[in-house]
Amino acid sequence: MSVPAFRPVLDQLPGYRATEGVYDGEPARPLSANESPDEPLPGVLAAVTAAGALAHRYPDPLCTALTRALARRHGVPEEAVLAGAGSVALLQALMTACARPGAEVVFPWRSFELYPPLAQLAGLRPVPVPLADHRNDLDAMADRITSDTRLVLVCNPNNPTGTVVGERALRAFLDRVPPDCQVVLDEAYFEYVRTPDTCSGLTLLGAYPNLAVTRTFSKAYGLAALRVGYLVGAPDVVEALAKVRLAYSVSGVAQEAALASLALEERLRARVDDTVAERTRMRTALLAAGFGVPESHSNFLWLPLGDDAAAFGRHCTAERIAVRTYDGEGVRVSVGSPGDNDAFLACAAAWPSAVY
Ligand code: PMP
Repeated sequence: MSVPAFRPVLDQLPGYRATEGVYDGEPARPLSANESPDEPLPGVLAAVTAAGALAHRYPDPLCTALTRALARRHGVPEEAVLAGAGSVALLQALMTACARPGAEVVFPWRSFELYPPLAQLAGLRPVPVPLADHRNDLDAMADRITSDTRLVLVCNPNNPTGTVVGERALRAFLDRVPPDCQVVLDEAYFEYVRTPDTCSGLTLLGAYPNLAVTRTFSKAYGLAALRVGYLVGAPDVVEALAKVRLAYSVSGVAQEAALASLALEERLRARVDDTVAERTRMRTALLAAGFGVPESHSNFLWLPLGDDAAAFGRHCTAERIAVRTYDGEGVRVSVGSPGDNDAFLACAAAWPSAVY
C-alpha cells in the first residue's frame, strides 16, 4: 500500500531483508552477514559498560576523541575524518549531498546491495556497471561517466565477490574521473586484504582531491551491532558532509567502543589473520569440491552458482546454515568460526552437483 503523501519511489524500493540468522526459532550458523565470528575483547566490553553509564546524556556530536584517534591512525589531519553511524550512513550522506535534478551515481554491480536504494532514496539516477570477471570494471565505469555524474563508487574489495582492483587500474581510473565528480572507495573489508596487487585509497588521497574513502568498525573490528564507520577525504568534503550527518547519530557507546578497539589493534589484527587463514582453508576445500570460487580478499567467499544459487541456498538453509543467496547469480558465505566453516564445507561437499 502506498502512502499518498510520500514519494512514489518508496513503492519501488525493496525492504531490507530480514536477518537470515534464525530459522523456526532456532539460531542458524551465522554466515550471511560478514560479521566477525569473535566476541568483543574484554577491553572493548569495559568501554561499552562505562559509556553505557552515561546513557542519559547526549553523546559528543562531533565524535572528537574518535576523530582524533582515527586521524592519528591514518596520518591525516583531523579535518579529513568524519565518523558516522556505520559506513552506510556516510554513503547515504554522500548521496544526499550529491543529489540534484538529473544527477547520476555510477557504481559496480553486483556489489553492495544498498547502493541502488540509497541512490534512489536520495533522488540520484543509479548507473550500475556490470562486473568483469567478478571485479569492478573500472574502464567500463569510467566510460559511463557523463557531465551528469556527480558520484562514483568503487567497492574494494567488492561485496559479494571478494575481488580487488589493481593499483595501476585504480590510478588510471582516478585519472579519468573529472574533478567535479566525487569518487568514493568503499573499503569496508580492506583490513582483510593481503595482496600487494591493490592499494588503499588512503594512500592516494593527496593525489586526488575528489577522492574519499569509507571504512567501518563493523567487520574486522567486530562492532557490527554498535554502528560506527568513518570517511577520510578532503577537509571541504568532510565539512560539508558533517552538515548532512544526523547529529548525535553515533552513540557514546559506539564512540568509546571504537576508540578502545583502536587501542587493541594488535589483538584485533591477530583475529583478522585467523579469518584470512580460514578463508584460504575454505577456498581450497571448495575448489577441491569443484566450486569455481574466485580468490577473496575479504571475510567472505563467492560461489558463482548461476541458476543453481537458489537451490544451493535452500540446501544450506536445510542444514541451518545462514548464507546470502543472490538468485540466479551465486551464494556468498562469510568466513566464520572454524566450527561453522566446517559445517558449511560439509554442506557444500554434500551438494549433489558440485561441478562448476
Ligand atoms: N559497504 C560494504 C561493501 C558493505 O558490505 C557494508 C556492510 N555489509 C557496508 C558498506 C556498510 O557497513 P556498516 O554500515 O556496518 O559500516
